[in-house]
Amino acid sequence: MTIKKLLIANRGEISVRIIRAAQELGIATVQVYSDADAESLAVKLADEAVNIGPPQAAKSYLNSEAILAAAAQTGADAIHPGYGFFAENAEFADQVTAAGLTFVGPSGDVIRLMGDKVSARQVAAKAGVPTVPGSAGRLEDLTAARKLVEEIGFPVMIKAAAGGGGRGIRIVSSMEEFDRQAPQASAEAQAAFGDGGLYLEKVITKARHVEVQLLGDGERVVHCYERECSLQRRRQKVWEEAPARALPEPVRARLCAAAVSLALAVNYRGAGTVEFLYDDDSQEFYFIEMNTRIQVEHPVSELITGLDLVREMILIAGGEPLRMTQEDIAIKGHALEVRLNAEDPTQGFMPFPGVVGDLRLPGGPGVRFDGILYPGYQIPPFYDSLLGKLLIWDEDRNAAIERLQRALKELEIGGLKTTKPLFEALCRDKDVRAAAFDTQWLERWLDDNAATLTHE
Ligand code: ADP
Ligand code: ADP
Ligand code: MG
Repeated sequence: MTIKKLLIANRGEISVRIIRAAQELGIATVQVYSDADAESLAVKLADEAVNIGPPQAAKSYLNSEAILAAAAQTGADAIHPGYGFFAENAEFADQVTAAGLTFVGPSGDVIRLMGDKVSARQVAAKAGVPTVPGSAGRLEDLTAARKLVEEIGFPVMIKAAAGGGGRGIRIVSSMEEFDRQAPQASAEAQAAFGDGGLYLEKVITKARHVEVQLLGDGERVVHCYERECSLQRRRQKVWEEAPARALPEPVRARLCAAAVSLALAVNYRGAGTVEFLYDDDSQEFYFIEMNTRIQVEHPVSELITGLDLVREMILIAGGEPLRMTQEDIAIKGHALEVRLNAEDPTQGFMPFPGVVGDLRLPGGPGVRFDGILYPGYQIPPFYDSLLGKLLIWDEDRNAAIERLQRALKELEIGGLKTTKPLFEALCRDKDVRAAAFDTQWLERWLDDNAATLTHE
């Protein structure tokens, strides 16, 4: 093991998760933090902490100079980027490597290839992985784009090549709308992601979101089966599970093999996820993107396989070959994750930062909580609203939902409004119980049911 001191260039629950994995490996940890995060759980748990600037992410968590200076100052020899922020930024990965440090993730070149959604589509197509019908490359001129729109047919999706986190996606239903939205979408993508590049995709309706977890060491790639993340609001996942119950076994095998072949095509090294849309009726799946990092919902795969994915990605970054073969990885039982956000689902998911009051975290068999909470902690208003992830394992999906209901009943987060009432209601819903949903299901459900949600 070559990594001795790991700097975490992130915040929130993923920092806590990475610190835990590092400590179990005997690796010292350095947590960087903004002025708004001085009292965060990650800062308390890390061996060392270094202030890197003001609350605005652009001046702290997206300030590569400050982060590299913190690494030099503390003698850290590796940087873990978590998710969001610099996690899929190829220049940052290059800077880390140029400074003589280990980046916990793939090389800048692989991030450049697979983090850009347009070039990733091209790699997928070349590797024989089915992609959503759409543009072959970036939209260069409007006349060619309009012609393509005619071919694809409405509704069509305009997507930002550099988009992520559910942002940078628009659906248009007429040419008039397309003419109006395309320039706006480009300007917005330029402002949000520093890259105005756009591409087009056919809108796949009644699809499920399924994604395959991978680990690669640059030579071999193994998959850790799939997750289903169809329950989304504004294209952001709110409830995830593993495995995807609706997948017939032969489809699961084809899906996982497709993801592995894509990663092998770029000699993938690290943890990564290949995302697909899946159509129950035709049993076809279509590549949408690859995330070249650890994902928020990675623990559901850990719960069904018994692996520690963050531990494995750190070991791989340290130069170790994969410690397992595909035959070593099997699915046991069923796992669920719900994202507890500091948002009020009875008020249109309005952010609700505040001070944590009385706190009771659930426990017992099959229950795990990955979060940032302690009594008296003031949730800063500057970042995403994820407070923690309630994770459930049980022998099958029905039992897991019962267990989730039980754990939600135990969970008490005083002082804040959270998304807990949404999950209590979803646990009781017959479609959720039957796993009868697609990526638009939750939006429709909220139209009909949001008004009935209450905080006790
Ligand atoms: P992000 O990078 O923001 O995660 P994705 O390309 O993964 O963007 O898409 C996010 C979500 O948007 C998907 O999980 C799915 O619900 C929806 N989506 C994306 N592409 C399509 C498509 N072509 N048709 C229908 N829904 C889509
Ligand atoms: P996951 O697939 O792990 O759920 P998400 O796409 O939901 O990943 O993104 C995880 C986190 O990273 C979220 O906090 C999201 O806001 C952030 N994120 C992802 N991609 C980007 C991006 N390109 N720009 C800004 N934030 C991003
Ligand atoms: Mg995605």
